[in-house]
Amino acid sequence: MSEDKELLKDGKRIDGRAKDELRDMEAEAGILKRADGSGYFRMGGTEVIASVFGPRELHPKHKQKPQRGIIQCRYNLAPFSVDDRKRPGPSRRGKEIGKVAEGALSSIVFLEEFPTATIDVYMEVISADAGTRCVALNAGAIALADAGIPMKGLISSCAAGKIEDTPVLDLKGEEDKDGQVDLPIAMNIETGEITLLQMDGMTDIDEMDKMLDLAIDGCEKVAEKQREALMETFGDKK
Ligand code: UDP
Repeated sequence: MSEDKELLKDGKRIDGRAKDELRDMEAEAGILKRADGSGYFRMGGTEVIASVFGPRELHPKHKQKPQRGIIQCRYNLAPFSVDDRKRPGPSRRGKEIGKVAEGALSSIVFLEEFPTATIDVYMEVISADAGTRCVALNAGAIALADAGIPMKGLISSCAAGKIEDTPVLDLKGEEDKDGQVDLPIAMNIETGEITLLQMDGMTDIDEMDKMLDLAIDGCEKVAEKQREALMETFGDKK
């Protein structure tokens, strides 16, 4: 993160948003025929398609948990999702995001109902302009619900950050690159449980509080969008 670009002018951001404004969002459930569940989520220029397969028996067997199922997440940045073609295949960054996504999603699923099973969540980033882990989780949670997996609620995610010493909501690419802090969170709005919190950059307690407040409000709006998408799909099926 560097700080040499003007990212705030007269209280407005480079794309005209206010400090507490999310990018425009789109959400859809049930977009893929061959998956058990699927979801699409877009925040500004970041788009993710998620698919869910399972619950199904986990192989190899030594990975099975006798008392509960597990969630396995694959996060993949498509080669065409970024300006410079991303080298296809696994990366350290992708593996790390897959791991934290597993943690974030596992807390909402009643995994004890599926001993020895796995639920696989594939999150394909088709367009990246910052916040890909958040959008991936938003699409992943829709896909889990679409698959009919019993859950305590939804996971909703967005980032707050700091640009020009000012806390703001939902960084886009240039803000992420030239700003000071990126703070993605994911939470279950129903219970208030925070299931992912990561931070890149430097801040203090006061700013941290402000960024968290912004991100929590953002997650509430994301949750509304996710619910709308699910209502639309399940409404159609009835
Ligand atoms: N990015 C990229 N190539 C990469 C990784 C990231 O162009 O190999 C860009 C992409 O736009 C991404 C942004 O950098 O959204 C920020 O990446 P970060 O690791 O902070 O994760 P994110 O904010 O996407 O969750």
